[in-house]
Amino acid sequence: MLVELKNTTKKLCVIGDPVLHSKSPLIQNTMIAALGLDYVYMAQPVARGHVAPWLTAAKVAGYAGFNATMPHKVDLVPLMDHLDEDARLYRAVNTVAIRNGFAYGHNTDGQGFLQSILDIGISPAGRNIVILGAGGAAKSVALKLVQQKARNVYICNRTLSKAIDLCDLAPFGSMTPSPMNRAALARLLPQADLLINCTSLGMTGVDAQWEDLSFLDDLRPEAPVCDLIYSPAETLFLEQARLRGHQTLNGLNMLIWQAIFALEHFTLTKIDGQAMLKVLAPVLSE
Ligand code: NAP
Repeated sequence: MLVELKNTTKKLCVIGDPVLHSKSPLIQNTMIAALGLDYVYMAQPVARGHVAPWLTAAKVAGYAGFNATMPHKVDLVPLMDHLDEDARLYRAVNTVAIRNGFAYGHNTDGQGFLQSILDIGISPAGRNIVILGAGGAAKSVALKLVQQKARNVYICNRTLSKAIDLCDLAPFGSMTPSPMNRAALARLLPQADLLINCTSLGMTGVDAQWEDLSFLDDLRPEAPVCDLIYSPAETLFLEQARLRGHQTLNGLNMLIWQAIFALEHFTLTKIDGQAMLKVLAPVLSE
């Protein structure tokens, strides 16, 4: 897309390794244009282990802020001058606003997921929720759902030790680790009110695919099913859930909402998120 640059234009970017595939520049520059803001947003490769010199460089170069993706989110935590409640809760930072030489660390991932399910009428309070996966995305989603008073959050993961480590982060034993096998899912899914895939299985560019989705037969038809993946728009997991009659949601609106919340932190401007969803929908479906 074409971006108008002036001498006053403030710089934003997303850092990662890799990062050039990121949709964040398209999303952020579209919102910046729609809102008439004087910012530009780029993709900035930063190699693993180099996030500390990058932060110094960003401050010196006058960046207004940046987003972070793999593998930098955890490494940024000790480098922040201020951490918000969610970044503290997840022990990970995905948004850094730089003001007067100070770095303000935020994490908008969990809030982005929460808003995307609230938009379609799903509230986590009092629900039994089964999460597949125990990586970075599962961490923000699970801890946000616990914070929002989910009754039980079960973390099912191929590597059980990672599910145990994730559950240790939650207060008051509100999360329960489980293996991600047929027998364990047959025990958990009949009581589940919501099922969320936070693994990378089925994502475009990832070879690994679900081998057996028959565990979906154990889920009550009225339980919605979410997949954090947005490419492809409908994963095999979501297709099989839809064919069994479940309400389904992919990860696109989570991606958009976390970007909206990030832009609010960068600009200290309140943004009409529903209006931005309408602006971005045609751009992202191209
Ligand atoms: P991650 O930290 O690398 O975690 C990957 C997870 O997938 C782990 O739980 C891993 O299990 C599991 N997994 C990978 N291959 C597997 C296989 N063959 N069989 C079973 N489990 C497997 O990645 P992440 O950052 O959490 O991201 C996970 C997914 O969420 C990605 O597809 C990403 O694109 C998506 N995501 C979407 C958004 C959004 O805004 N919509 C935001 C963040 C992430 P092990 O622990 O056993 O390895």
